[in-house]
Amino acid sequence: MRIGLHVHVAVGYAKAVEHAKATGATAIQVFSTNPRSYRPSAVDGAALDAFADMRRDAGIETCAIHTPYLINLASPDPKIAQGSLRLLRGDLAVAARGGMQFVNTHLGSYGTRDRGEGFAAICGALEAALADIEPGVFLVLENSAGAGNLAGGRLEELGEFVRTLGHPQLGICLDTAHAWAAGYAIDSKEGVDRFLDEAERLIGLDRILMFHFNDTEVALGASRDRHWHIGEGKIGFEGFRALLARPDLRGKTAILETPGDDADDLRNMQTILAIERGAVATG
Ligand SMILES: [Zn+2]
Ligand SMILES: [Zn+2]
Repeated sequence: MRIGLHVHVAVGYAKAVEHAKATGATAIQVFSTNPRSYRPSAVDGAALDAFADMRRDAGIETCAIHTPYLINLASPDPKIAQGSLRLLRGDLAVAARGGMQFVNTHLGSYGTRDRGEGFAAICGALEAALADIEPGVFLVLENSAGAGNLAGGRLEELGEFVRTLGHPQLGICLDTAHAWAAGYAIDSKEGVDRFLDEAERLIGLDRILMFHFNDTEVALGASRDRHWHIGEGKIGFEGFRALLARPDLRGKTAILETPGDDADDLRNMQTILAIERGAVATG
């Protein structure tokens, strides 16, 4: 797999790429703007060109934008729904201009809304975003931890989005910590195989473009979104080993969103890369 990590570009693109390269990353994920603001990022072509050059020089060509956390495509409030769509479109434009392959987004929460209505609202927003998506960019929907009425906690539901929209540039990202919190026991080979067989049947592995590799300390099915260091949580070495041993995932991209500072990033990357080497060597 192409394994990398989420980096903070607020420190500057050069520092962010340098840090990612030092950890052995071959992919990165960034926020294009303040992740807690509704203001779309301005497209700075020259800066994006420079960023693309730095990534190429560092051997980190695969780059995902993670959209802001405020996005709620299921909101019945037209202000929030429109603001969310604007942010999503903004990031798709930045990705197209900056040569980034993926725009990864949360779907939002149905809240007190009827689920069918909320589902239709999300589909409407995604359809609008996909209507003018540029070639080479994929819109990637992330599974949720399933808390409250968050959309996209189940593989069935993610598959329904993919089939309803039927767009070739629509994909899915599976966050391991969210999957665990949503009740998928991916801490063993059997559990991982069951999870991926279900993903194949309900979504299609060809649609699963990205993973977020995060361990977690919450109980299985706890619906709580807490990321923890790789191999130090409930998913553990066995879970990640099983994921990295799957030949059908080799072409995919996995991004770490683990907590802590640069030293923690380095340790987490070294751990996941070591697990991968072992998994590939022994099948
Ligand atoms: Zn996310
Ligand atoms: Zn999370």
